[in-house]
Amino acid sequence: MDTIYFNDKFVPAPEAKVSVMTNSLHYGTAVFEGIRAYWNGPKKQLFVFKMLEHYQRFLRNTSLLRLKVNHTPEELCDITLELLRKNHPEEDVYIRPLAFFSTETMGVKLHGMETGLTIFSIPFGPYIDVSKGVKVGISSWRRIDDNSIPARCKISGGYVNSAVAKSEALDHGYDEAIFLTKDGFVSEGSAENIFLLRGGKLLTPTLAEDILEGITRSTLIDLCRTELNLEVVERQIGRSELYLAEEIFLCGTGAQVSPVIEVDRRPIGSGEIGPITAEIQKLYFEVVKGNSRKYLKWCIPIY
Ligand code: PMP
Repeated sequence: MDTIYFNDKFVPAPEAKVSVMTNSLHYGTAVFEGIRAYWNGPKKQLFVFKMLEHYQRFLRNTSLLRLKVNHTPEELCDITLELLRKNHPEEDVYIRPLAFFSTETMGVKLHGMETGLTIFSIPFGPYIDVSKGVKVGISSWRRIDDNSIPARCKISGGYVNSAVAKSEALDHGYDEAIFLTKDGFVSEGSAENIFLLRGGKLLTPTLAEDILEGITRSTLIDLCRTELNLEVVERQIGRSELYLAEEIFLCGTGAQVSPVIEVDRRPIGSGEIGPITAEIQKLYFEVVKGNSRKYLKWCIPIY
Protein backbone atom coordinates (compact mmCIF):
# COMPACT_ATOMS: atom_id res chain seq x y z
CA MET A 1 0.00 0.00 0.00
CA ASP A 2 1.23 3.48 -0.83
CA THR A 3 0.80 5.19 2.54
CA ILE A 4 1.94 4.01 5.96
CA TYR A 5 1.26 5.52 9.37
CA PHE A 6 4.68 5.96 10.97
CA ASN A 7 5.47 7.80 14.21
CA ASP A 8 2.53 10.23 14.15
CA LYS A 9 2.55 10.90 10.40
CA PHE A 10 1.19 9.40 7.21
CA VAL A 11 4.21 8.88 4.96
CA PRO A 12 4.88 7.25 1.57
CA ALA A 13 5.81 3.59 2.16
CA PRO A 14 9.53 3.98 1.22
CA GLU A 15 9.92 6.58 4.02
CA ALA A 16 8.71 4.26 6.81
CA LYS A 17 12.16 2.94 7.73
CA VAL A 18 14.04 2.19 10.96
CA SER A 19 17.75 1.99 11.78
CA VAL A 20 19.52 -1.38 12.19
CA MET A 21 20.28 -0.20 15.74
CA THR A 22 16.58 -0.07 16.68
CA ASN A 23 16.38 -1.72 20.09
CA SER A 24 13.33 -3.95 19.48
CA LEU A 25 14.84 -5.37 16.31
CA HIS A 26 17.48 -7.04 18.49
CA TYR A 27 15.42 -8.23 21.43
CA GLY A 28 11.89 -8.84 20.11
CA THR A 29 10.48 -6.34 22.59
CA ALA A 30 7.62 -5.19 20.39
CA VAL A 31 3.86 -5.76 20.30
CA PHE A 32 1.75 -6.14 17.20
CA GLU A 33 -1.80 -6.75 16.07
CA GLY A 34 -3.43 -8.37 13.07
CA ILE A 35 -6.75 -6.98 11.91
CA ARG A 36 -8.71 -7.89 8.81
CA ALA A 37 -10.85 -5.74 6.57
CA TYR A 38 -13.18 -7.50 4.15
CA TRP A 39 -14.18 -6.11 0.78
CA ASN A 40 -17.89 -6.57 0.16
CA GLY A 41 -18.28 -6.33 -3.64
CA PRO A 42 -22.10 -6.04 -3.88
CA LYS A 43 -22.14 -3.33 -1.17
CA LYS A 44 -18.98 -1.67 -2.58
CA GLN A 45 -17.79 -1.38 0.99
CA LEU A 46 -14.71 -2.33 3.02
CA PHE A 47 -15.58 -3.53 6.53
CA VAL A 48 -12.98 -3.73 9.33
CA PHE A 49 -13.82 -6.52 11.74
CA LYS A 50 -13.85 -5.87 15.51
CA MET A 51 -11.29 -3.07 15.15
CA LEU A 52 -11.91 -1.59 18.61
CA GLU A 53 -11.38 -4.98 20.32
CA HIS A 54 -8.07 -5.37 18.46
CA TYR A 55 -6.84 -1.97 19.61
CA GLN A 56 -8.02 -2.60 23.17
CA ARG A 57 -5.95 -5.81 23.19
CA PHE A 58 -3.03 -3.96 21.56
CA LEU A 59 -2.96 -1.33 24.30
CA ARG A 60 -3.28 -3.91 27.10
CA ASN A 61 -0.32 -5.75 25.59
CA THR A 62 1.82 -2.65 24.97
CA SER A 63 1.34 -1.60 28.59
CA LEU A 64 2.51 -5.05 29.76
CA LEU A 65 5.74 -4.47 27.80
CA ARG A 66 5.93 -0.86 29.07
CA LEU A 67 5.69 0.48 25.52
CA LYS A 68 4.18 3.96 25.53
CA VAL A 69 1.48 4.36 22.90
CA ASN A 70 -0.07 7.74 23.55
CA HIS A 71 -3.41 7.00 21.92
CA THR A 72 -6.76 5.64 23.01
CA PRO A 73 -8.20 2.61 21.21
CA GLU A 74 -10.71 4.97 19.58
CA GLU A 75 -7.93 7.23 18.28
CA LEU A 76 -6.11 4.22 16.82
CA CYS A 77 -9.35 3.23 15.07
CA ASP A 78 -9.62 6.75 13.60
CA ILE A 79 -5.99 6.64 12.40
CA THR A 80 -6.66 3.27 10.76
CA LEU A 81 -9.80 4.54 9.04
CA GLU A 82 -7.84 7.50 7.70
CA LEU A 83 -5.02 5.22 6.52
CA LEU A 84 -7.44 2.94 4.67
CA ARG A 85 -9.27 5.87 3.09
CA LYS A 86 -5.94 7.23 1.83
CA ASN A 87 -4.95 3.86 0.30
CA HIS A 88 -8.51 3.11 -0.81
CA PRO A 89 -8.28 -0.68 -1.24
CA GLU A 90 -11.14 -2.50 -2.94
CA GLU A 91 -10.07 -5.98 -1.84
CA ASP A 92 -9.53 -7.86 1.45
CA VAL A 93 -6.69 -6.35 3.46
CA TYR A 94 -4.72 -7.17 6.56
CA ILE A 95 -3.85 -4.33 8.92
CA ARG A 96 -0.66 -4.54 10.98
CA PRO A 97 -0.14 -2.15 13.91
CA LEU A 98 3.29 -2.49 15.58
CA ALA A 99 4.67 -0.72 18.65
CA PHE A 100 8.40 -1.03 19.30
CA PHE A 101 11.32 0.49 21.19
CA SER A 102 12.74 2.89 18.65
CA THR A 103 15.74 4.02 20.70
CA GLU A 104 18.97 3.19 18.89
CA THR A 105 20.88 1.60 21.72
CA MET A 106 21.95 -1.77 23.02
CA GLY A 107 20.55 -2.97 26.35
CA VAL A 108 17.93 -5.58 27.20
CA LYS A 109 15.31 -3.77 29.24
CA LEU A 110 11.87 -2.27 29.01
CA HIS A 111 12.39 1.13 30.57
CA GLY A 112 13.89 4.45 29.57
CA MET A 113 13.25 4.04 25.87
CA GLU A 114 11.25 5.79 23.16
CA THR A 115 8.30 4.00 21.57
CA GLY A 116 7.75 3.93 17.83
CA LEU A 117 4.38 3.14 16.30
CA THR A 118 3.47 2.10 12.81
CA ILE A 119 0.27 0.90 11.14
CA PHE A 120 0.19 -0.40 7.59
CA SER A 121 -2.08 -2.55 5.50
CA ILE A 122 -1.43 -5.13 2.80
CA PRO A 123 -3.74 -6.97 0.38
CA PHE A 124 -4.53 -10.30 2.00
CA GLY A 125 -6.33 -13.38 0.77
CA PRO A 126 -6.68 -16.50 2.90
CA TYR A 127 -3.67 -17.23 5.19
CA ILE A 128 -4.75 -20.86 5.04
CA ASP A 129 -6.87 -22.28 2.19
CA VAL A 130 -10.14 -22.63 4.10
CA SER A 131 -11.90 -24.54 1.32
CA LYS A 132 -9.60 -27.53 1.89
CA GLY A 133 -8.95 -29.14 5.24
CA VAL A 134 -5.52 -28.75 6.80
CA LYS A 135 -3.22 -31.48 8.07
CA VAL A 136 -1.55 -30.74 11.38
CA GLY A 137 1.15 -32.30 13.50
CA ILE A 138 1.79 -32.03 17.23
CA SER A 139 4.92 -29.95 17.59
CA SER A 140 8.00 -31.20 19.40
CA TRP A 141 8.32 -27.58 20.58
CA ARG A 142 6.30 -26.74 23.70
CA ARG A 143 4.28 -23.52 23.96
CA ILE A 144 6.05 -20.68 25.79
CA ASP A 145 4.52 -20.43 29.21
CA ASP A 146 2.96 -17.42 30.90
CA ASN A 147 5.93 -17.00 33.23
CA SER A 148 8.40 -16.93 30.32
CA ILE A 149 6.83 -14.89 27.53
CA PRO A 150 3.05 -14.48 27.94
CA ALA A 151 1.49 -16.07 24.86
CA ARG A 152 -1.77 -14.29 25.65
CA CYS A 153 -0.16 -11.08 24.34
CA LYS A 154 1.05 -10.57 20.78
CA ILE A 155 4.69 -9.99 21.72
CA SER A 156 7.02 -10.11 18.72
CA GLY A 157 9.70 -12.18 20.51
CA GLY A 158 7.12 -14.82 21.40
CA TYR A 159 6.67 -15.57 17.72
CA VAL A 160 10.08 -17.27 17.61
CA ASN A 161 8.20 -20.11 19.32
CA SER A 162 5.57 -20.05 16.55
CA ALA A 163 8.16 -19.86 13.79
CA VAL A 164 10.19 -22.89 14.92
CA ALA A 165 6.99 -24.95 15.29
CA LYS A 166 5.54 -23.86 11.95
CA SER A 167 8.73 -24.63 10.03
CA GLU A 168 9.08 -27.99 11.77
CA ALA A 169 5.48 -28.81 10.74
CA LEU A 170 6.12 -27.80 7.12
CA ASP A 171 9.39 -29.80 7.08
CA HIS A 172 7.39 -32.85 8.21
CA GLY A 173 4.80 -32.38 5.46
CA TYR A 174 2.05 -30.87 7.63
CA ASP A 175 0.28 -27.58 6.98
CA GLU A 176 0.31 -26.38 10.56
CA ALA A 177 1.65 -27.17 14.04
CA ILE A 178 -0.31 -27.77 17.24
CA PHE A 179 1.43 -26.78 20.44
CA LEU A 180 1.10 -28.57 23.76
CA THR A 181 1.70 -26.66 26.98
CA LYS A 182 4.69 -27.50 29.18
CA ASP A 183 2.26 -29.77 31.11
CA GLY A 184 1.29 -31.58 27.90
CA PHE A 185 -2.20 -30.21 27.34
CA VAL A 186 -3.46 -28.87 24.01
CA SER A 187 -2.67 -25.16 23.62
CA GLU A 188 -3.09 -23.72 20.10
CA GLY A 189 -1.63 -23.55 16.59
CA SER A 190 1.34 -21.39 15.61
CA ALA A 191 -1.02 -18.47 14.87
CA GLU A 192 -4.49 -19.87 15.54
CA ASN A 193 -6.71 -20.96 18.40
CA ILE A 194 -8.21 -24.44 18.25
CA PHE A 195 -11.67 -25.98 18.70
CA LEU A 196 -12.66 -29.68 18.84
CA LEU A 197 -16.07 -31.25 18.52
CA ARG A 198 -16.56 -34.19 20.90
CA GLY A 199 -19.91 -35.74 21.75
CA GLY A 200 -21.66 -32.88 19.97
CA LYS A 201 -20.01 -30.25 22.24
CA LEU A 202 -17.41 -27.74 21.15
CA LEU A 203 -14.29 -27.79 23.30
CA THR A 204 -11.53 -25.21 23.38
CA PRO A 205 -8.53 -24.79 25.72
CA THR A 206 -8.98 -22.28 28.55
CA LEU A 207 -7.14 -18.94 28.68
CA ALA A 208 -4.76 -20.55 31.21
CA GLU A 209 -3.41 -22.89 28.51
CA ASP A 210 -0.81 -20.40 27.20
CA ILE A 211 -2.93 -19.31 24.26
CA LEU A 212 -3.38 -15.95 22.64
CA GLU A 213 -6.61 -14.38 23.91
CA GLY A 214 -8.03 -14.65 20.41
CA ILE A 215 -10.69 -12.31 19.12
CA THR A 216 -11.90 -14.90 16.59
CA ARG A 217 -12.04 -17.45 19.42
CA SER A 218 -14.34 -15.25 21.51
CA THR A 219 -16.38 -14.30 18.41
CA LEU A 220 -16.95 -17.98 17.61
CA ILE A 221 -17.81 -18.91 21.21
CA ASP A 222 -20.43 -16.15 21.09
CA LEU A 223 -21.79 -17.06 17.63
CA CYS A 224 -21.88 -20.82 18.28
CA ARG A 225 -23.80 -20.36 21.52
CA THR A 226 -26.21 -17.71 20.23
CA GLU A 227 -26.81 -18.69 16.62
CA LEU A 228 -26.08 -22.42 16.46
CA ASN A 229 -27.27 -23.40 19.93
CA LEU A 230 -24.04 -25.33 20.46
CA GLU A 231 -22.65 -26.00 23.90
CA VAL A 232 -19.12 -24.57 24.10
CA VAL A 233 -16.86 -25.74 26.92
CA GLU A 234 -13.54 -24.11 27.82
CA ARG A 235 -11.41 -26.76 29.56
CA GLN A 236 -8.06 -28.53 29.60
CA ILE A 237 -7.79 -30.84 26.61
CA GLY A 238 -5.56 -33.90 26.48
CA ARG A 239 -3.45 -34.66 23.41
CA SER A 240 -5.28 -37.92 22.64
CA GLU A 241 -8.60 -36.03 22.52
CA LEU A 242 -7.35 -34.53 19.28
CA TYR A 243 -7.09 -37.99 17.70
CA LEU A 244 -10.58 -38.90 18.99
CA ALA A 245 -12.36 -35.69 18.01
CA GLU A 246 -15.30 -35.79 15.59
CA GLU A 247 -14.23 -32.48 14.09
CA ILE A 248 -11.46 -29.94 14.64
CA PHE A 249 -10.91 -26.45 13.32
CA LEU A 250 -8.37 -23.68 13.79
CA CYS A 251 -9.39 -20.05 13.95
CA GLY A 252 -7.86 -16.62 13.86
CA THR A 253 -7.92 -13.32 12.04
CA GLY A 254 -5.56 -14.75 9.43
CA ALA A 255 -6.72 -18.39 9.51
CA GLN A 256 -10.43 -17.44 9.71
CA VAL A 257 -12.15 -20.84 10.25
CA SER A 258 -9.78 -23.54 8.97
CA PRO A 259 -11.01 -27.14 9.13
CA VAL A 260 -8.48 -29.74 10.31
CA ILE A 261 -8.81 -33.12 8.58
CA GLU A 262 -5.75 -34.90 9.95
CA VAL A 263 -3.67 -34.84 13.15
CA ASP A 264 -0.34 -36.71 13.11
CA ARG A 265 -1.54 -38.58 9.98
CA ARG A 266 -4.70 -39.80 11.72
CA PRO A 267 -7.90 -38.74 9.94
CA ILE A 268 -10.30 -36.64 12.01
CA GLY A 269 -13.90 -37.84 11.77
CA SER A 270 -14.52 -38.85 8.17
CA GLY A 271 -11.21 -37.25 7.12
CA GLU A 272 -13.13 -34.48 5.36
CA ILE A 273 -14.47 -31.09 6.44
CA GLY A 274 -17.02 -31.79 9.20
CA PRO A 275 -20.64 -30.56 8.89
CA ILE A 276 -20.56 -28.44 12.07
CA THR A 277 -17.26 -26.84 11.02
CA ALA A 278 -18.78 -26.07 7.60
CA GLU A 279 -21.78 -24.44 9.28
CA ILE A 280 -19.56 -22.36 11.59
CA GLN A 281 -17.38 -21.33 8.65
CA LYS A 282 -20.42 -20.19 6.65
CA LEU A 283 -21.79 -18.16 9.56
CA TYR A 284 -18.39 -16.60 10.25
CA PHE A 285 -17.94 -15.41 6.66
CA GLU A 286 -21.46 -13.99 6.58
CA VAL A 287 -20.70 -11.99 9.74
CA VAL A 288 -17.18 -10.73 8.92
CA LYS A 289 -18.09 -9.70 5.38
CA GLY A 290 -20.86 -7.47 6.68
CA ASN A 291 -23.72 -9.59 5.34
CA SER A 292 -25.43 -10.18 8.68
CA ARG A 293 -27.65 -7.29 9.74
CA LYS A 294 -27.54 -8.45 13.38
CA TYR A 295 -23.74 -8.40 13.55
CA LEU A 296 -23.08 -5.34 11.41
CA LYS A 297 -22.14 -3.68 14.72
CA TRP A 298 -18.83 -5.63 14.57
CA CYS A 299 -18.01 -4.39 11.05
CA ILE A 300 -16.79 -0.80 10.65
CA PRO A 301 -17.39 0.56 7.13
CA ILE A 302 -14.50 2.55 5.67
CA TYR A 303 -16.16 4.40 2.81
N1 PMP B 1 -3.02 -17.61 18.47
C1 PMP B 1 -1.92 -17.01 17.98
C2 PMP B 1 -0.59 -17.45 18.48
C3 PMP B 1 -2.05 -16.00 17.02
O1 PMP B 1 -0.95 -15.39 16.54
C4 PMP B 1 -3.32 -15.65 16.54
C5 PMP B 1 -3.47 -14.61 15.47
N2 PMP B 1 -3.58 -13.33 15.97
C6 PMP B 1 -4.45 -16.29 17.10
C7 PMP B 1 -4.25 -17.27 18.06
C8 PMP B 1 -5.83 -15.88 16.72
O2 PMP B 1 -6.11 -14.64 17.33
P1 PMP B 1 -7.15 -13.61 16.69
O3 PMP B 1 -8.40 -14.37 16.51
O4 PMP B 1 -7.27 -12.54 17.70
O5 PMP B 1 -6.57 -13.16 15.40
